[in-house]
Amino acid sequence: MKRTGIFFTYFQGERLKDFPRSLQGLLDKPNVSYYDAVYGSRDGLFCLEPVAERLLLKVHSRKMIESVKHTEHYESAVYSAGGTVQAAEEILRGNIGNAFVFTSFGDHHAGSDFYHGMCYFNGAALAIALLKEKGIRRFLIVDTDSHHGDGTRDIFRRDASVLHVCFCDQDYSDEYGKIDVEIPYRTSDEEYLAKMKQVFIPRARAFKPEYIFWEYGYDATRGEYGDKGISRDCHMRLTKLIKATADEVCKGRLIVILCGGSRRDVATYTIPRIIAILAEGEDRFQIAQSE
Ligand SMILES: [Zn+2]
Ligand SMILES: [Zn+2]
Repeated sequence: MKRTGIFFTYFQGERLKDFPRSLQGLLDKPNVSYYDAVYGSRDGLFCLEPVAERLLLKVHSRKMIESVKHTEHYESAVYSAGGTVQAAEEILRGNIGNAFVFTSFGDHHAGSDFYHGMCYFNGAALAIALLKEKGIRRFLIVDTDSHHGDGTRDIFRRDASVLHVCFCDQDYSDEYGKIDVEIPYRTSDEEYLAKMKQVFIPRARAFKPEYIFWEYGYDATRGEYGDKGISRDCHMRLTKLIKATADEVCKGRLIVILCGGSRRDVATYTIPRIIAILAEGEDRFQIAQSE
């Protein structure tokens, strides 16, 4: 049975206050491995390691890294990105099949020489830099955060080995595999899922990535700061689609990275359900198809 890795970093802010408590029931599953940055050295838990500076320098400029070091969030940032890097390594070693990575500070607004929007280091890009050293050649990043993943786009702009499918505020596509899909305000779950099916699935099949990274921002949920109108249950339906695609095209190698979103209730509702789908291939909470 394929294992699911949960990478739990230090966290700051309100939204993850119910974690790791809300993972109860998941952590006991025989096919779930829990990597903890705080208590990793005891009780058989695995240790979550911070990202190495050597790797940071392959993606980000020295000037930018030094600048992040002078913020109060540096330690959280290296553990957040470290979770994604370690997830990629553990999948490569065969210890786990897929992963959910908690982050204090997410990825997609961190570019090669800039950062903003509560993103400091780009965990997906750092994991890809490491996997390239190990001979992996094709990567897909799908981004359902409400906002454009400008940092990720900047890093891979001319890199045709990375297909970047970003659901945001504009339509765009180029010959390097960089695609934006416009999600207007007041998009229904059905409309969003239809776009995912029309754009992401055929591109993933044609591209044949060896890994899929999913920037899971939930800020497009109704009532969030990037509200596009979708319900919280839409995220579970997206999880099923993206996981089924990963199972089909890249042996299930899927890393879900927590990105934007501020509401504690949405995090507490969606994240355990997403992990349950990753670990079981089905939704143990019997989610209704719409609210
Ligand atoms: Zn966002
Ligand atoms: Zn975009």
